[in-house]
Amino acid sequence: MTTDLLATDAEQLVRSRLDDLLATHDPASTPAVEFAGARFDAGLAWVWFPEGCGGLGVHPDLQGVVESRMRKAGAPNDMERNVIGLGMAAPTIVTHGTEEQKRRLLRPLFTCEEIWCQLFSEPGAGSDVAGLATRAVADGDEWVVNGQKVWTTLAHTARWGLLLARTDPEVEKHRGMTYFIVDMHAPGVEVRPLRQITGEAEFNEVFFTDVRIPDSARLDAVGAGWQVAMTTLMNERVAIGGGVSARSAGPIHDALHIWRQRGGGTAAEKDRLLQHWVRAEVARITNMRARERRRAGTPGPEGSVVKLVSADLNKDIYSLCVDLLGMTGTLYPTHYEMRRPDRASIGGGDVRHSFLRCRANSIEGGTSEVMRNILGERVLGLPGEPRTDKAVPWSQVPHN
Ligand SMILES: Cc1cc2nc3c(=O)[nH]c(=O)nc-3n(C[C@H](O)[C@H](O)[C@H](O)COP(=O)(O)OP(=O)(O)OC[C@H]3O[C@@H](n4cnc5c(N)ncnc54)[C@H](O)[C@@H]3O)c2cc1C
Repeated sequence: MTTDLLATDAEQLVRSRLDDLLATHDPASTPAVEFAGARFDAGLAWVWFPEGCGGLGVHPDLQGVVESRMRKAGAPNDMERNVIGLGMAAPTIVTHGTEEQKRRLLRPLFTCEEIWCQLFSEPGAGSDVAGLATRAVADGDEWVVNGQKVWTTLAHTARWGLLLARTDPEVEKHRGMTYFIVDMHAPGVEVRPLRQITGEAEFNEVFFTDVRIPDSARLDAVGAGWQVAMTTLMNERVAIGGGVSARSAGPIHDALHIWRQRGGGTAAEKDRLLQHWVRAEVARITNMRARERRRAGTPGPEGSVVKLVSADLNKDIYSLCVDLLGMTGTLYPTHYEMRRPDRASIGGGDVRHSFLRCRANSIEGGTSEVMRNILGERVLGLPGEPRTDKAVPWSQVPHN
């Protein structure tokens, strides 16, 4: 472990690993999987993870050095295919997994040879995910799972799923859950597409019928599912709120691109564009500050700030984009045929698609109302919401 390295030594270590990686793997000609594998082995996947797990045990802030060098070198990057794996599964496994789980799962996750999905939400449990009903019952050294999940992004491409299930209905809801890694190809797992406003089915319903999961695929202790889920969810907000990108990158880049292509616009449009640019820049700097303050481990509620802000901002930016396009903005780039994309992302594509896709930003990963609750309670210290099901066994709480 190198956690005790002085900051300058740590930065030097990161820079010298980058030099070695780029000298031995030409970014222009090395296939994406091979390049990502070498990057993982060099400890440059997530620099704050322990050595051997794709990291160097250094401060998370140094990840920025890696990302910017990768961008400049034009390193191959196919990671949008595995947003849930990279942003959520990896930190959850490294925090709660056994050595065997880390060794088996992290490398193919980073190379995107194995895609991940998140199986939390259910028809009767979304914002209140701790109310979920999918049951896992112990049977020898296996668990038998029955139930249904919904809105499962990329379940159709996933090899592994992060599954939160109820293992003890007789205790209070937060204490009766256990967290598993489920093989999405196991018998009894059925994935059905759900079509979105964009016409595509990025997400799915997932049904479990007598699915058997070995106990070795459990993450952390029986009954500790909520604590493990918090690691996933806090990282999800950071992942959705956005990493620290270059200035004027991401959705605001799309607006600037249209503006330039169009040769400008009215004073009122320019005012909107500048206001959005300023908000994007403030969000970017807030992300930088959050990253600098972040210690290795589970991120704090600051991830919810940018998640909340960027949900509204993205909607405003893409509304401006379609307005700038005039009548063309009312057309749609496809025949609205059903597609099952292999990545879940907005920005960088057709802005009319992004305009529709970003409607979901204030729902996915926790709604904006729920983000406000979290920030009110955990950052501002306001009184908590009334919780009538506290200290009541889950089985005695009315469910729909
Ligand atoms: C594009 C997309 C992708 C998704 N991907 C995944 C995925 O991969 N895996 C997964 O598990 N889930 C996924 N989700 C589900 C997502 O996490 C839930 O939709 C979200 O948490 C809201 O839950 P719900 O849909 O059940 O709405 P509900 O919880 O029923 O909420 C309905 C409304 O009530 C409001 N509300 C609820 N509780 C409160 C409260 N306490 N205070 C104030 N207002 C409240 C909400 O803000 C919302 O407006 C995805 C959703 C979308 C849109």
